[in-house]
Amino acid sequence: MNGIMLQTFEWDMPSDGMLWKTVRKKARLWSLLGITAAWLPPACKGSAGGLDVGYGVYDLYDLGEFDQKGSVRTKYGTKDEYLAAISALRRAGIQALGDVVLNHRMGADEMEHVPVTPVNPDNRLEMLGGSEDGAVYTRFTFPGRKNRYSDFVWNASCFTGVDWNGNDPDHHLFLIGGKTWAPDVDNEKGNYDYLMGADVDVRAPHVHDELIRWGLWYLKTTGLDGFRLDAVKHISASFYRDFLEQVRNATGREIYTVGEYWSNDLGKLLYYLDEVHYSMDLFDTPLHYHFCAASRSGGTYDLRSLFVDTLVSQRPSQAVTFVDNHDTQPGQSLESWVDGWFKASAYAMILLRSAGYPCVFWGDLYGIPERGIGAVSELPRLMQIRLFQAYGEETDYFDDPNLVGFTRKGDPRLPGSGLACLITDEKGGEKRMDVGVRYAGKTFVCAIGGQSDVKIGQDGTGVFRVDGGGCSVYVPKPTLFAVCCRAVRQVLRFFHLA
Ligand code: CA
Repeated sequence: MNGIMLQTFEWDMPSDGMLWKTVRKKARLWSLLGITAAWLPPACKGSAGGLDVGYGVYDLYDLGEFDQKGSVRTKYGTKDEYLAAISALRRAGIQALGDVVLNHRMGADEMEHVPVTPVNPDNRLEMLGGSEDGAVYTRFTFPGRKNRYSDFVWNASCFTGVDWNGNDPDHHLFLIGGKTWAPDVDNEKGNYDYLMGADVDVRAPHVHDELIRWGLWYLKTTGLDGFRLDAVKHISASFYRDFLEQVRNATGREIYTVGEYWSNDLGKLLYYLDEVHYSMDLFDTPLHYHFCAASRSGGTYDLRSLFVDTLVSQRPSQAVTFVDNHDTQPGQSLESWVDGWFKASAYAMILLRSAGYPCVFWGDLYGIPERGIGAVSELPRLMQIRLFQAYGEETDYFDDPNLVGFTRKGDPRLPGSGLACLITDEKGGEKRMDVGVRYAGKTFVCAIGGQSDVKIGQDGTGVFRVDGGGCSVYVPKPTLFAVCCRAVRQVLRFFHLA
């Protein structure tokens, strides 16, 4: 079955505490759309309390249960609402994936006085002077939680670095005395262990053990099926290799995991996958950047190179493909938004092909009203085509820099499956493509793109068209039998039987 992951949030959605309730209500609908996994935003209390998107983690054990940082609930709701959302997803046959942010902490409860060394933020291997007295925010006691679930107190011994020292306003990055940056992290800026806040020293044995204890508590408490791991390029690769092995062994469950290694360099992604012994999938960031470039090149992008040097072309079974996310949306830190005119084409390229596990972004499915961005209107239809038609042998026609396409020949066991897809970043055109002799003499109708029907010749080929800057998707003209088979599959999905 063709899976679809849904990222169930965007950055600017209102901080009204309603998301967990919304997820609970939409789970069945999402299942019918073809969604098989839901990536939920970070559920732990952040330093900005009820306003925190979730990446400024304060307390891993507060899932919206304790009055901390000015709020019991998180941006998305209370712990009970979170648990209800996860249950609803699982009842609908959708895997619930939790966003895990272990790289850093923010909003410490107390200051500590420890030796620190100023570091060059642009080259973290360069010390800017010797050891000095530090006044740093590194002590986390969680007074609002009162040791519930864990009495672990975080202090300077748990962190490698901080970006603020009350005694030294002239510098902006400090290594904590006795610590070193983890060596097995991304090598940008010399060493990219430090990202923000108080950087967690995952190699310290007491921290390592506490994080694994937390991981097991989190899975047991929530019933999550897996994880989306935040900022893995800033975390010692050996840590997550061990973390995943331990939680999988202890629970006996698959614990599907996808990591965010944000880099346009395929070599780094392949190296990291090897370092973590292929224990997780990775988001295909290079492919996202290709989509972004194609959408912004005014027709000069060579569409034949769309998949060149992408993770999905090199490690199709470990690539989670996506078009945009909460970090690439307008106004965010990694802004690289794929222009609206190209969105349907990009989604066709991740949803209708055989390679990769596609992830649909909330901001594309529902729009980002806070920024005046509308939904990608073709997206629900593309998801349905993935569910019902995107099967069988794939034939590529990446032979023209401005006009590329592919076909799927369908699976005889799935009546009405098979498709033809064409995209262009220039003027419109046509291409003769092979959909298989099984469809000789039959008709393909245009599901997306507004083109006329295409009669398939005796050799199994047809001439398919696309308008300028557009995307066309053709599917076999539905027979009554195929429609009935689809209806049966939807009923089975609704009752979580298939
Ligand atoms: Ca780090």
